[in-house]
Amino acid sequence: MIFDYILIRFGEISTKGRNRRVFIERLKRNIIDVMGDYPNLGYEATRDRIYLHLNGESHEGIVERLQAIFGIQSFSLAMKCDSDLDIIKEKALEAIKSLYEQGDTFKVTAKRADKQFPYDTNDLNYQIGSHILINTEGLTVDVKNPKINLRVEVRKQATYLTCYDYKGAGGLPVGSSGKAMLLLSGGIDSPVAGYLSLKRGVEIEVVHFFSPPYTSERAKQKVIDLTKELTAFGGKIRLHIVPFTQIQEKIQAQVPENYTMTSTRRMMLKVADLLREKQQALALITGESLGQVASQTLESMLAINDVTSTPILRPLITMDKTEIIEIAHEIGTHDISIRPFEDCCTIFTPASPKTKPKLDKVSRFESFVDFDELIKEAVENIETIDITAEQESEYSSLL
Ligand code: ATP
Ligand code: MG
Repeated sequence: MIFDYILIRFGEISTKGRNRRVFIERLKRNIIDVMGDYPNLGYEATRDRIYLHLNGESHEGIVERLQAIFGIQSFSLAMKCDSDLDIIKEKALEAIKSLYEQGDTFKVTAKRADKQFPYDTNDLNYQIGSHILINTEGLTVDVKNPKINLRVEVRKQATYLTCYDYKGAGGLPVGSSGKAMLLLSGGIDSPVAGYLSLKRGVEIEVVHFFSPPYTSERAKQKVIDLTKELTAFGGKIRLHIVPFTQIQEKIQAQVPENYTMTSTRRMMLKVADLLREKQQALALITGESLGQVASQTLESMLAINDVTSTPILRPLITMDKTEIIEIAHEIGTHDISIRPFEDCCTIFTPASPKTKPKLDKVSRFESFVDFDELIKEAVENIETIDITAEQESEYSSLL
């Protein structure tokens, strides 16, 4: 393999002042996690870069994974050679040859850190550039906006060549903003909410409310698969499956029909909040978008939100459905979300849910039932699965 290492740059985190060390350490750890099955790689973090030493591994698969890691602004393939013009020319040609496609443009940007080196920047650009042009076909020079910018930095001890900047995913390293519980339904919205939270550095654990026999193992599989898609951005993710049947049946039996949905949401939040406390997370995340359905009006939110003072992140709150669907396609969750399996809320959805529920009313309806006991029981019987990217889940036979 001709590339020795990948040079990784981080944009936003360079501005984070005192937290910088923590951010860089976290990013490095996240990269190491994602590259778990490449034991030969080496990692070296400095103040403003991470060098990933390839140690003989091919860069292709690695590049693809790096592009999904939050906290990386851009990265470049790099190689090191002796500071000798003939060697530099050969290395530069080799690098370009391994990357370019017919019709591509390039330029050479040389930098002479070692002022004793007998060729100045212009000489270097010309010598290296013409060597590449003579020995390739279908490649032209574009000094303004080249596809490949080959940077050559000549230092005393060695010369460093980097080429082709790959765009990183941006955002902040996952985990650098603390942990929150994502309420994941199996629909289109909540996985996108999870993705956007990961992007801002929030580590997530997933909570899913499951109501057998009204919802089947296939619905559960869907949530496992969605969580698995999110691991591409967040590494290992813990999934909690909450048995919700008894609570839902109780709501159906005791709460007037047009208030069942409000009550269901309130119970979900209560359970999720208890679990959050147990898992030492700092917030809850939902896929709500303002006005999308009856439970997502401001009046509904006021009545539902009343059960907790924990911060609830709603990354999609101002987004249109079409914008959300676009992201779902990009992150690979859309096709899983549209699998036609029932979820616990669709089944119990009343014909005409209140779009402007009253808090005092819903509290009164609930006061006739001892929900606390049922909530406690649900939390005690949670099934927890750690989901990883490689994992073959036990339910895959159901697909
Ligand atoms: P989604 O596409 O995420 O299902 P939605 O537009 O269908 O969202 P609702 O069904 O009203 O909206 O759900 C609102 C939010 O409540 C969801 O985005 C999710 O965060 C949470 N939620 C709903 N059902 C469940 C469930 N069964 N388990 C966990 N969270 C849920
Ligand atoms: Mg839904």
